[in-house]
Amino acid sequence: MTGMVSGKVALVTGAGSGIGRKSAELLAREGARLLVCDQNSDAAEETAEGIKASGAEAEALEVDVSDEDQVSAMVRHCVSRLGRLDCAVNNAGIAGPTGTLETVSLDDWSRVQAVNLTGVFLCMKYEIAAMLEAGGGAIVNMSSGAGLIATPGLSPYSASKHGVLGLTRTAAVENARRGIRINAICPGSIDTPMLRKAMESDPATARFIEKSMPIGRLGKAEEIAEAVAWLCSDRASLVTGQSMGVDGGSVAR
Ligand code: NAP
Repeated sequence: MTGMVSGKVALVTGAGSGIGRKSAELLAREGARLLVCDQNSDAAEETAEGIKASGAEAEALEVDVSDEDQVSAMVRHCVSRLGRLDCAVNNAGIAGPTGTLETVSLDDWSRVQAVNLTGVFLCMKYEIAAMLEAGGGAIVNMSSGAGLIATPGLSPYSASKHGVLGLTRTAAVENARRGIRINAICPGSIDTPMLRKAMESDPATARFIEKSMPIGRLGKAEEIAEAVAWLCSDRASLVTGQSMGVDGGSVAR
C-alpha cells in the first residue's frame, strides 16, 4: 500500500470516537500502522476492528491521558509492539462544564485541565523521548478555535485549548533541529458526539455553536482528519509550530 504516511507507525488518543476515530482510519488508509488509544476500551477496540477489516494494521489500547503511568506505558507499548513511533495525534479531550466562569467548580476546572492540557503535556513528554531515540517524528495536538478566541460559556475548555497552543509552539521550537515537527489543529464546530452533547446541555452554547460557522454548516470529523494526515506526513516537512485552523471561517470573522 502506498500513501501519505506509508510505512509509519502512528498513535492516536481519543480514537474511539469523532475526530480521533476518523483520523486513525485515514492514517491507516494512507499506509500507517496504528495504535488506537482511548479511555473507552470498547470504543477503541471498535475503531481498531474497523481498520483491520479494511486490511490495515491496528491495535487498541485503553489509556487515560491524564494518568502519567498509563501515558508512559502507551508509548512503551507502541515501541515494543509496533517497533517505533513516527506520528502521534494527541486528540483526546473533553468539553467540560458549560456556564459562565463564576458558576464553574474547581473540580470541573481541574478535570478539564487534567485531560485537555496535562494530557497533551504528558503525551508529548513521552512521545518526544521515543521519537528522539528513533531520529524524528511528527506530533499533531488537537486544540480548537476556542484556543484562539473567547468561547463564552466554556471558560475551562477555552483556557485548556489556549494552553495547548502554548505547549505546541514551545515544544516545536525546542525540537525544530531534532527532527520532530509539532503542530496544532484548531477545528471549528465539528459534528461529533462531544459537540452534540454540548449543544444539548445548554441552549446558549447551542446558539453560539449554530452561529459559529460562516461556511453555513457544521464540519465533519473526516475534514479534520485530512489536516491531521497531511501534518503527520513528510509533505508537511517545513511546517512546525503552527496552529492550523480547519474551521469553515469561524475565527476569520
Ligand atoms: P468525542 O467524539 O467526544 O471523542 C473524544 C474521545 O476521547 C472519546 O472517545 C472520549 O472517551 C475520549 N477521551 C475523553 N477523555 C479521555 C481521556 N482522559 N483519555 C483518553 N481518552 C479520552 O470528541 P471530538 O469532538 O471528536 O473531539 C476530539 C478532540 O477535538 C478534542 O480534543 C476536542 O476538544 C477537539 N475539538 C472538537 C471540536 C468539535 O466541534 N467536535 C472542535 C474543536 C476541537 P469518552 O467518550 O469515554 O469520553
